[in-house]
Amino acid sequence: MKGGHTTGGLEWALSILNQEDLYYTEMRRELRALVAEWQACGQSFWKMIRKDCERAAALQTGWIAFFGADGKFLIGRDERSQDTSPRGVALTAFASLMNDPDLSLLGGPCDRCGRYFKKKRANHKLYCDRDCAHLASATKSTNERLQRDREDKLKRAKLRIAQWQGLKRKPKVGWKKWIATAVPDLSVTFLTRAVNSGDLVPPTDSAKERDYAKG
Ligand SMILES: [Zn+2]
Repeated sequence: MKGGHTTGGLEWALSILNQEDLYYTEMRRELRALVAEWQACGQSFWKMIRKDCERAAALQTGWIAFFGADGKFLIGRDERSQDTSPRGVALTAFASLMNDPDLSLLGGPCDRCGRYFKKKRANHKLYCDRDCAHLASATKSTNERLQRDREDKLKRAKLRIAQWQGLKRKPKVGWKKWIATAVPDLSVTFLTRAVNSGDLVPPTDSAKERDYAKG
């Protein structure tokens, strides 16, 4: 019987889940699919095999459920199947993972790098390590800064459009060129894109100015 109640199942599973050697691509994909399915079933193996799906049907063949020496319910792979295909090994590794007392420490995939990891604390959930957490928060603050910059530019563009609307005699250039000349960071490209994405409403009289719009 393979996959008894032993430690090491988590480490073995992690080594396959994070395997970068192309030779193990299929095994990695199979085990990742099994783990994802198990996570989608609320991390319950029993829910997973009861689910009416193709994967569950495949899962139920070649599995053995038994009580371990400590009275805990365990699962294993039927050794008679001797399945050494990538899928067979992935299933055996999955059984071994399910039986590992540290199973609840399986974390991942990391929100940044996609690796699975062994959790250090119960609330350690999103990132595999500090590097990924730091890089992710740096990316987040960069995105937030870009978002703030964009909102500021839109606000200023709206004020300029209101000014344009108020002009009694419109300049010969179109409104975009007129704004871009006065405010360098509000370029014609920025204004065009903002209008196209619906974030900016062009001046109501812009239709007849269309001939000048490109500057
Ligand atoms: Zn990571």
